Amino acid sequence: MLRFEQVSKRYADGTVAVDDLNLDVAEGELVTLVGPSGCGKTTTMRMVNRLEEPTAGRVLFDGRDVAEYDPVRLRRRIGYVIQQVGLFPHRTVLDNTATVPHLLGWRRPKARQRAAELLDLVGLDPAVYGDRYPDQLSGGQRQRVGVARALAADPPVLLMDEPFGAVDPVVRERLQNEFLRLQAEMRKTVLFVTHDIEEAVRLGDRIAVYGQGRVEQFDSPAAVLGAP
Ligand code: ADP
Ligand code: ADP
Repeated sequence: MLRFEQVSKRYADGTVAVDDLNLDVAEGELVTLVGPSGCGKTTTMRMVNRLEEPTAGRVLFDGRDVAEYDPVRLRRRIGYVIQQVGLFPHRTVLDNTATVPHLLGWRRPKARQRAAELLDLVGLDPAVYGDRYPDQLSGGQRQRVGVARALAADPPVLLMDEPFGAVDPVVRERLQNEFLRLQAEMRKTVLFVTHDIEEAVRLGDRIAVYGQGRVEQFDSPAAVLGAP
């Protein structure tokens, strides 16, 4: 579903963030990218939805170079969740979630109905939380809205960049469990960035262990844990 072929990214200032990366992600697979800060994980993700362009090599989505896609259409098929989810502060939780269905051309009642279903899916009762504003939510709840919004267009691919990185450990564990349950049903193709090896092992079907700009190991959780 996703394939990186000899992908490199050098930023304008000369920093080589990704260096000759090769990686394959099967349909329905959840791959975690793990490694220390600055090793190129975020850059890797951002080349999938064309927030960055590779300086060499290519990234394939469904067999086609992402460079050939219209970026807007591409991003409709690739959900994106980041650590500090940017919600519209002056819109309610329901309206924040309904934005994407609305942009897809759905009529307002249908978009709101869909938004309510998505909030339910991520464990937020729309009757309780739908009319709140983002600053009336806890950090964990805001991240849930971010996941709901990323799922709104029903994209086959999800990019998640430390989505649970800013919440406390107890909430994080709950969000991880909920996400695993959701993924068991949805079977999205997921790239999940984390610097936490425990999280990587817990969530990943396979784990890409990053060194500087490269994948040093790409294997099952058991194999990664068993490594010397
Ligand atoms: P990670 O997600 O693993 O923390 P990043 O992909 O964010 O790593 O960064 C990889 C390297 O690229 C780091 O050295 C970082 O400082 C550098 N980098 C990231 N974004 C830019 C940018 N826009 N311009 C220059 N260097 C950048
Ligand atoms: P979570 O486990 O989802 O992170 P918290 O433990 O942070 O939740 O919050 C517990 C409860 O407090 C939640 O029901 C949340 O709605 C409420 N809450 C947290 N922050 C605020 C806030 N700024 N305004 C109103 N309610 C809040």
